[in-house]
Amino acid sequence: MSAVAGAESALIGPNAIIRTVEALREIAGAAATDDLLTAARLERYREEFPATMVAQDDVTALYRAVRERIDEPAASEVARLAGVKTAEYILANRIPKPAQAVLRLLPARLASPALLSSINHHTWTFAGSGTVSIVSRPTPRIAIEGCPICRGTVSEAPACAYYTASFEGLFRALVSGRTRVTEVACEASGAPQCTFEIAF
Ligand SMILES: [Zn+2]
Repeated sequence: MSAVAGAESALIGPNAIIRTVEALREIAGAAATDDLLTAARLERYREEFPATMVAQDDVTALYRAVRERIDEPAASEVARLAGVKTAEYILANRIPKPAQAVLRLLPARLASPALLSSINHHTWTFAGSGTVSIVSRPTPRIAIEGCPICRGTVSEAPACAYYTASFEGLFRALVSGRTRVTEVACEASGAPQCTFEIAF
């Protein structure tokens, strides 16, 4: 995969599709989910979930359809539940159990930069063509410039609850159960990047 792939050809991990469709079915029901996927020209995901990386454009189209076709607060609930499910999937399948045990044993101030470092090594799985920048001190932050979740969206409120909940799920499991993640700036509201602040 080219590191300079443009937004058109960028790929992203399949969780953003799979977990979002699962969340849609739970919150909006199977029929509404099928209608939404058809409207977004993503009907191929009605019957079968992707097994490999997907086109970033599919993720953008799916979240645009969620915002257009599902009323608030249900749309935000869908995004949030999809993020929770993504964190659960990553914890069950992607982070080795011994590494998780070490992080849980560490004090939060040490576990946090270790988890952020791991996230920094896996940005290709969730950010597509977006550019991720991470700082661990003084306030831990993850910023995504060119965010695929809110691309093309204009919104007063932060629009990327999928990421908020994904990061929060990982931090609550591995750093501190009290972690709160807040999207403090969003490209959908005109910010230069989507910024997720982490407090624990
Ligand atoms: Zn955002």
